[in-house]
Amino acid sequence: MFQFIPKDDFKQALRIRRFLMAFVSYVIWTGLVAFGISAGFFRLNLGQTFLYIALPLLLVQLGIYALLRSGINKRFDDPSLTMGQMIVATLVISTTLYFTNQGRGVFLMVYLVTFVFGIFRLKMGQFLLITVIALASFGLSIIALYLRHPGLLDMRQEVLQLIVLAAVLPWLSTIGAYISRLRHNITTANARLSEAFVTIEQMAIMDPLTNVCNRRKLLEILEQEMGRTNRGGPVFSVCMIDIDHFKKVNDRFGHIKGDLVLEGFAKAIKDALRSHDTLARFGGEEFVVVLPQTGLAGAISYANRMRSMVETLRFSGLPDSFSITISIGVASYEPGESIESLLARADAAMYSAKAQGRNCVAA
Ligand code: GH3
Ligand code: MG
Ligand code: MG
Repeated sequence: MFQFIPKDDFKQALRIRRFLMAFVSYVIWTGLVAFGISAGFFRLNLGQTFLYIALPLLLVQLGIYALLRSGINKRFDDPSLTMGQMIVATLVISTTLYFTNQGRGVFLMVYLVTFVFGIFRLKMGQFLLITVIALASFGLSIIALYLRHPGLLDMRQEVLQLIVLAAVLPWLSTIGAYISRLRHNITTANARLSEAFVTIEQMAIMDPLTNVCNRRKLLEILEQEMGRTNRGGPVFSVCMIDIDHFKKVNDRFGHIKGDLVLEGFAKAIKDALRSHDTLARFGGEEFVVVLPQTGLAGAISYANRMRSMVETLRFSGLPDSFSITISIGVASYEPGESIESLLARADAAMYSAKAQGRNCVAA
């Protein structure tokens, strides 16, 4: 169904709400003019007001709404169309003022309402442009009146009005531009904060070297799995992996190359994981793989596949003859036991794999 204000696009919804505020302003303005006509302040009847003011305004507003609702506005530099709306409003006010017989001074105030809308968006230069348009169009309507209905003018009063308007509008422009800038800064600061928040969240759960989960995230995942199993869900298993003789890698090739090996190893394991399995760096060159919905037998065969895959890994920047091996300790979660106890059992199994001569799996 057609939504008058889109629900899925926050920015567009905001723009359309602002458009509605402007629209209400136009309705109020038309109402005021209609009142002015019935009280005899204008050289227009209601029909002419509709034809010269309300109808064109309505068509322009429909056009603006169509631009906003179709999304064409997003291609513009000023997607809220604030500047366009302000120019339309200013010209409408100046045109209406041309038709006043008396009381122009009071209707002049409505120029100021237009400026309030600029606070949402406009920069100083744009405010000043609107000021110039307002002063020029008001000046023109006075000149037109002077030429066609000189009897209606009290020149001293018109000049006074023009001077006051010329003083007030730049003043409003300055304050408006200031508020607009503040608003812009707050928006930018908010966007930066959201970015920083995402980064911090990532940093809190990721290991920076290998780009896999860190120990904190691992414990969180294990807590979840433990809860699921203890509520009667399927059993899960963990593999504790330690790279064999990794000290020698560092000693032979240096720490930097050692880091590259860790990165390459982690990436290879991660790429080979099923979607719901997790690889985490437990510390140093020790890693843990969490295998949800996997019993001991399944975990052991998975560990053996990992072990043979690692033997075949090659690392960029290291000789082709170089390879690593891993020792893996496997443990399945026993309902009711703690995470510490599960990890200790996997760790003990890993040490027994080391004792059996490394490059093997123990449970
Ligand atoms: P083992 O087969 O008994 O596991 O022998 P090992 O040499 O791997 O012994 P151990 O596991 O005790 O030593 C781990 C080594 O890993 C010690 C440390 O220098 C190295 N290491 C730990 N973290 C890093 C790291 O972030 N980068 C590099 N390059 N080396 C690391
Ligand atoms: Mg170790
Ligand atoms: Mg080791």
